[in-house]
Amino acid sequence: MSDETAGNPANMPAGPSVLHPKPSSKSDGVKTKPGSKRRPVDPLKPKQPLSAYVFYSKDAFKQLKGKGTDHQSRVKFLSDGWAALPKEERQKYEEMAEVESERYKREMAAYRQKHLQKTKEPRLSGKTQEAQVPAAEKKIIKSVPMATSRDESGELWSFPAFSAEFLENNRKLEEQHRVLKEKIVLVKEESGQLEAEVRRLNGAVSLLDGETKEREALTAACEAYSKAIKNLIVSEFSSLVIPASGGLPAIQPKADNVMVYCKRLREAFKNGVCPPNFHSYRELFRQTNWEIFFPGVVGRRMVRQFSSASNHYDVVICGGGMVGLAAALAFARDPTTRAQRVVVIEQGKPPKTDPVPNEAPYGLRSVALNPSTVRFLERNGAWEHVHRWGTIRSLQVWESVIADSRITFESDEIARVVENDELIRVMKIALKDGDVEFRYGANLKAVELPRDSSSVAKLTLEGDEITASLVVGADGAKSLVRKAMPNSARSLTWEYDQQAVVANVNFSLDCVENEIGWQRFLKTGPIAYLPLTTSMSNLIWSTTRNHAKDLMKLSDEDFLLAVNDAFVSANDDAMSPLVDSVMKFARQVSVTNPPSVAQLPPRAVSVSKRASFPIAAAHAVNYVAPRGVLIGDAAHRVHPMAGMGVNLGFGDVDCLHRVVGDALGLGGDIGTTASLYPYESERQRKNLTKMLGIDALYRLYRAQFLPIALARGIGLTLTDSLVPVKSWIMDQASRY
Ligand SMILES: Cc1cc2nc3c(=O)[nH]c(=O)nc-3n(C[C@H](O)[C@H](O)[C@H](O)COP(=O)(O)OP(=O)(O)OC[C@H]3O[C@@H](n4cnc5c(N)ncnc54)[C@H](O)[C@@H]3O)c2cc1C
Repeated sequence: MSDETAGNPANMPAGPSVLHPKPSSKSDGVKTKPGSKRRPVDPLKPKQPLSAYVFYSKDAFKQLKGKGTDHQSRVKFLSDGWAALPKEERQKYEEMAEVESERYKREMAAYRQKHLQKTKEPRLSGKTQEAQVPAAEKKIIKSVPMATSRDESGELWSFPAFSAEFLENNRKLEEQHRVLKEKIVLVKEESGQLEAEVRRLNGAVSLLDGETKEREALTAACEAYSKAIKNLIVSEFSSLVIPASGGLPAIQPKADNVMVYCKRLREAFKNGVCPPNFHSYRELFRQTNWEIFFPGVVGRRMVRQFSSASNHYDVVICGGGMVGLAAALAFARDPTTRAQRVVVIEQGKPPKTDPVPNEAPYGLRSVALNPSTVRFLERNGAWEHVHRWGTIRSLQVWESVIADSRITFESDEIARVVENDELIRVMKIALKDGDVEFRYGANLKAVELPRDSSSVAKLTLEGDEITASLVVGADGAKSLVRKAMPNSARSLTWEYDQQAVVANVNFSLDCVENEIGWQRFLKTGPIAYLPLTTSMSNLIWSTTRNHAKDLMKLSDEDFLLAVNDAFVSANDDAMSPLVDSVMKFARQVSVTNPPSVAQLPPRAVSVSKRASFPIAAAHAVNYVAPRGVLIGDAAHRVHPMAGMGVNLGFGDVDCLHRVVGDALGLGGDIGTTASLYPYESERQRKNLTKMLGIDALYRLYRAQFLPIALARGIGLTLTDSLVPVKSWIMDQASRY
């Protein structure tokens, strides 16, 4: 049976009804032939009137009695006889029929009045129900077989005779309807989602389309420009023989050779290996539009075509702190990016560039720079100007709960400690006049980044407005650029309830070598010395906010007492026999490489003025947006205990100028997210790994629960004896 016919009672197999048994003709007087499809006859209904022919047939039939005629001959005899009947005789039968008809009319009128009204009632209500039934289902209801039944008062009622099959099929039908309705709801939901997805994709496609068109136009323009310049160069070179120099062979002035030579020259220039007579060639290239070999220049020119206004910059660096200046330096020094028009916006005063006299007091803020950062500064011509710094060749890290747990790192050079101001000073010196523009005392009021890279970014300064192809947010922890990014809310922050108290302390005697970085983890947070001179170190004491407040209020004498005590005091908790035996065991298993001998820092005898800074860890979920990118503390902040904060910022800069250079090399737009994503991907991978490691270390050391403290103590003792593990840790700490 098909689905369509399943619910139709007319198609159902006959069978006994359980709920409504078929009424038997004997029990309630309803006359129906078994299996008859005719509606049952009401016995109270008046008999149909007999016709004149029937009355005649009754009389005529008597003449045939006992003659044994068949049905057909009998019918013929009657009809022939009726046809031949004389008029007067026929009249008699017609009068009988008339009386009969009168009787029927009379009885029917009485019957209708008495019975039909009652039997109609259920039908009327049935009609009312029918009116509410949807048209499609009417057919089914109409074809339901009807049954009648008499009530206690003898009244007759009609009702649909539902069979068990009918009800079962109806239930199935309802179930099918329900499933269908659910499916419709699902399909509607899905199609809604699908439509939303299609709308989103259409939006993305149109954006992409815009970017592609822009890129295509730019590439086509670049290609045309390249061709024109190539022709120009070739014609210029045609009368010139370039001699061998700096490992590069002499070349014939053929077009291809010229291009090969220029390519090599560019590579050599990028890698910092200048041929001896490079400068004379550079002049030559200048005259012949040599920019073609440095696509950054071409890219910049193209972007200028789109926005040649004097207030437009290729790159606006917001923030002239350590990381912002490092970015300016990298852009200015890299041959692929140096032709970009760059400006640095800094609300503070311009840094002094005169050398600092030896006797000048040291700044309160210093940073430990790892080897990668030092190399960056050397490569970019800044380190040569650093006037004074300290070197860390050994690191002693221990804690106040488990006395014997200590780890020592030794290396030729673990880090260099430089005052923040000195670092800014030398980078400013390394930036030559005209390399980049500086706007000091300029307060950035608002940053407007476009929804996509089809337009430029707008920056509002006090009394001025500028536009940019790329805004670099180097404006620190409270970055305005980060707030302007479409997903600015998506930034993770860890509050440590910590404050750093910083100062410079002098030691009792001139240490022959003050080259140790000391760090002790106290219950309230780490306290550390970073060496600056043979007799002076920078103190960074990270502690709870309340304790920091108290420390700031102390007199110099009391502060010194507190500092010395924090470094050399006995353990916070007396060693229990259990701790003692566990630590002995740890020392035994690390016997192949005995752990370092415990040392203590020299005693501090005088202290400079103090300053206090809040500590938090934060990380922006996105570093890039159309025409915007975050670097340094604007993108991430870490606890100062690992001395990594600014180093990660230098790592950002190193990666960003490379990525921007690559985009320019391909003739691309430096402000699109497509160009900037490689930066986000590389830096988030590196920064997050280091940040989470530092955070885990901080939490591990804050834990005072004995088992954790013990595990930490054993871990440190064992790690201290494992040279490869220590080398690996040092390697990680030396990179940004
Ligand atoms: C106590 C302490 C010790 C630390 N020790 C170390 C360490 O040993 N090693 C290490 O690697 N890191 C260390 N750090 C972290 C390091 O100091 C920071 O990571 C670093 O200063 C971040 O530099 P930045 O240029 O990104 O941001 P910032 O130094 O905050 O510079 C942001 C600049 O943007 C400017 N600016 C902000 N808003 C505006 C505006 N609206 N308009 C114009 N200009 C604006 C500011 O004036 C500022 O010059 C330490 C941090 C602390 C607190």
